[in-house]
Amino acid sequence: MAGGHESPVMQQYARVKRAHANAVVLFRLGDFYEIYGDDAVLAADLLGIVLTRRRTAREGDEGIPMCGVPFHAAEGYIGKLLKNGLKVALAEQTETPEEAKKARGSAAIVNREVVRLFTPGTLVEEGFLSENTPCFLVSISGNSTGYEKEGGPAAPAHGPAARGADRVPVSCRRWEGVVAWLDVSTGEVGVRPVTEATLPHIMAGLPVGEVVVPSALEERLLAFMPRRQLSVQDGLFVRDSAERALKRVYAVAEVGGLGLPGEHAVVAVGALAGYAELTQMGRVPTLRMPRVVVGRGRLQMDASTRKNLELTESLAGRRADSLLGVLDRCVTSAGARLLGRWVAEPLADAGEINVRLDAVRALVEDAAARSQIRELLRGTGDVARCVSRLLLGRGGPRDLAVLRATGLVLPKLAEVAGGERGALLAGVVEGLAGLEELTALLGRALADDPLPALVRDGGFMASGFDAELDGYRKLMTDGNGMLAALEEKEAAASRMACKLRYNQVWGYYLEVTKAQMGGGEVPTHWVHRQTTTQTHRYTTPELMVLERELGSAGAKTQRREEELLAELLEAVRKHSYPLLAASEALATLDVLANLAEVATRLQWVMPTVDEGEAFEITGGKHPVVAARVSEFVPNNCDLGGGKLWLLTGPNMAGKSTFLRQNALILILAQMGSFVPAAGARIGVADAVFSRIGAADDLAAGQSTFMVEMVETAAILNRSTAKSLVILDELGRGTATYDGLAIAWACVEEIAGKVGCRTLFATHYHELTSLAETLARVSCHQVAVREWKGEIVFLHEVREGAAAGSYGVQVAKLAGVPPRVVGRAQELLDGFLKVARGKGAVRVDELSLFAHPVRAEEKPESEIEKRLRGIDVDGMTAREALEVLYQLRGMAG
Ligand code: ADP
Repeated sequence: MAGGHESPVMQQYARVKRAHANAVVLFRLGDFYEIYGDDAVLAADLLGIVLTRRRTAREGDEGIPMCGVPFHAAEGYIGKLLKNGLKVALAEQTETPEEAKKARGSAAIVNREVVRLFTPGTLVEEGFLSENTPCFLVSISGNSTGYEKEGGPAAPAHGPAARGADRVPVSCRRWEGVVAWLDVSTGEVGVRPVTEATLPHIMAGLPVGEVVVPSALEERLLAFMPRRQLSVQDGLFVRDSAERALKRVYAVAEVGGLGLPGEHAVVAVGALAGYAELTQMGRVPTLRMPRVVVGRGRLQMDASTRKNLELTESLAGRRADSLLGVLDRCVTSAGARLLGRWVAEPLADAGEINVRLDAVRALVEDAAARSQIRELLRGTGDVARCVSRLLLGRGGPRDLAVLRATGLVLPKLAEVAGGERGALLAGVVEGLAGLEELTALLGRALADDPLPALVRDGGFMASGFDAELDGYRKLMTDGNGMLAALEEKEAAASRMACKLRYNQVWGYYLEVTKAQMGGGEVPTHWVHRQTTTQTHRYTTPELMVLERELGSAGAKTQRREEELLAELLEAVRKHSYPLLAASEALATLDVLANLAEVATRLQWVMPTVDEGEAFEITGGKHPVVAARVSEFVPNNCDLGGGKLWLLTGPNMAGKSTFLRQNALILILAQMGSFVPAAGARIGVADAVFSRIGAADDLAAGQSTFMVEMVETAAILNRSTAKSLVILDELGRGTATYDGLAIAWACVEEIAGKVGCRTLFATHYHELTSLAETLARVSCHQVAVREWKGEIVFLHEVREGAAAGSYGVQVAKLAGVPPRVVGRAQELLDGFLKVARGKGAVRVDELSLFAHPVRAEEKPESEIEKRLRGIDVDGMTAREALEVLYQLRGMAG
């Protein structure tokens, strides 16, 4: 688009597009937003709208691709573009055509500016956000420490590097930094230190909408994040500009007071603040004080563990079938979002956990208070999101009405939640205070519900609040009455039957016929306007004022309402910290009451949580499976002091369920919830590791077995004596002996060296002999009963090893054709016969086929039988030779 050939409007567009090259530009022209060029081709396809061409000034030119959406329906289209990972810049007219002409001459075109940049991580509009799920803007800052890279100057004087800088292994460098996050829609800010190893896992625990990074980190992030979620912004990560953004957004003179731990935190949070400003076009969102999360205070879980345990969504992607789905009976959306955070980030400090547990218990024990609290909470709104919208200039009267309604409930809630109910609820009650003045103001100022959605619809201010506004409104409604009153007054003053009339040219006037007037005089304050053949027409100063006021009453009403709204917004801004505190308190109260409600309904118990090493669950259940299966069989588990349970049993017996339920019980306990069990005593874990299922991560180019081994490596490298580990069918992804060997070595390492609490489900019955050599290892089985060649699942975990894998029976249950099942059984019998018959495979030699068969119970082989049957002394040499041939033949 060469400027010289373009119309002024297209030149203006080109300028806007240059400044927002990474976004689809929606360019306001009259009642439409138009989209041009490559943006148009892309958008027309994604939005399913017609692609046309806009003619350019150049003759013979085909023009450029173009499409458009009506401005009043833009939100839906913008939403679609955002869902497709695009950014959208909204260019609006910032003046009227009259203003443009007045300012810059008759040929001037109206000015257009981008007033909002929509990006996936900076949305505040109700229509773009999910009520129950937060959407974070995340930033990362850090650097590598340790030896320099290849050829670098800091190579150590000994070791391989001494022999040549090119040999310095890159892995000598370790990356460290912080992850910071911001929920623009609520102002929540958090920071957490990370290392190279923990970065992907911490990211996996955050509801990430968009990540801003310096280009130096782009590659690192692309290893585990889709490109469309990344926004590279080098300028924001410069120390100075980050610091300036923090000072602006937090309105502080020094960033020291924000409590940010170190330089990286300052840069990362500063970059978030800067990016928020950038996308909101300079409007400063109100951010809460950064919450610093220290790794030690949280239960560590890696990305695959979170996924496998189906914490916030099932493997099929459904929230309802996840732990969160079962737990979430919150009555507010802020509560539901906070509950999601609690599930994703359980605590790892017994003191903190017990503070939450005490609060939940207090609400379990007081059913009346609990139901009252939940009922009152229903009357509250999403305060944090309303405040953010209002302060970013994207809110409306209804957001204020939500603050009013919520404010009215707070004192009652504080009263019900108060009393001797522990530290957490005391903090909640404190958070609910401080909004009395604002609530009263909103109560006086706002009209009754329902209020209009848009400011321009007017009518949202109450009458009786502002005399000026009341006056304008009175004019609008009482206009006719006032004119009539004036007519009457002037008739009395003039003692003539004058009439008040109106025409387009003169407006309002008093009219007296010449006949009526006779020789009389009109009052002196009457001003002559016009004389017609029959009449004289007059006006009065009062009539002129009234007329002017009537004419502009509509516009004045609107303007005054807007002025008053601005005052209310200022009051909201002044109260933004107590508002955000109240919002947090409400969400916390909702989560606590919710956990108490769920515990009561499902008859869960309060776990005993301390810093010890216990893991003693009696009558434990899987919270999600138990909700679906009518008769869930509860099971005990005791891994205290770092025991390892080897769990055997056929497929479908319930091994995975048992493994997961124990991990979930630990997670529930550490997030401060009651647990699905008859009793639970748990020493706080520092981490939960899992290796479950065998999902191919083909997208990442890793085979099943590779994924399995990567996860296993993580467990072996990172677990400590305080961890909980669950391993399901380790070694399944490779050849049998390979797998068995790996599984064996892992059990030895975990039970022998690490000493963490571990559940290990396996089909390798050979492993059970490890119980004899390793003190921490014991055998358990999920019981089945054999009945007429079929198996019946009891789902009961007992001591001892399972008698077999029953694979063939399970295949039969699954509907594998009888012919194939029959053949498989035949083959299995054959394999077992050969394996045992050869006598070559014994337990300690890692038998493939046999379940653990002790030497003394081993059935006699055919060869043995035959040998035993020989009467050596009564044989001729020829007979002996014959038997030898036979035996040789039997041995195959
Ligand atoms: P495995 O891992 O041994 O193959 P799963 O744990 O996948 O078996 O369990 C198979 C099915 O058995 C589950 O889908 C569930 O419906 C049922 N189940 C598992 N444990 C129990 C239990 N304790 N009580 C009742 N049903 C159970």
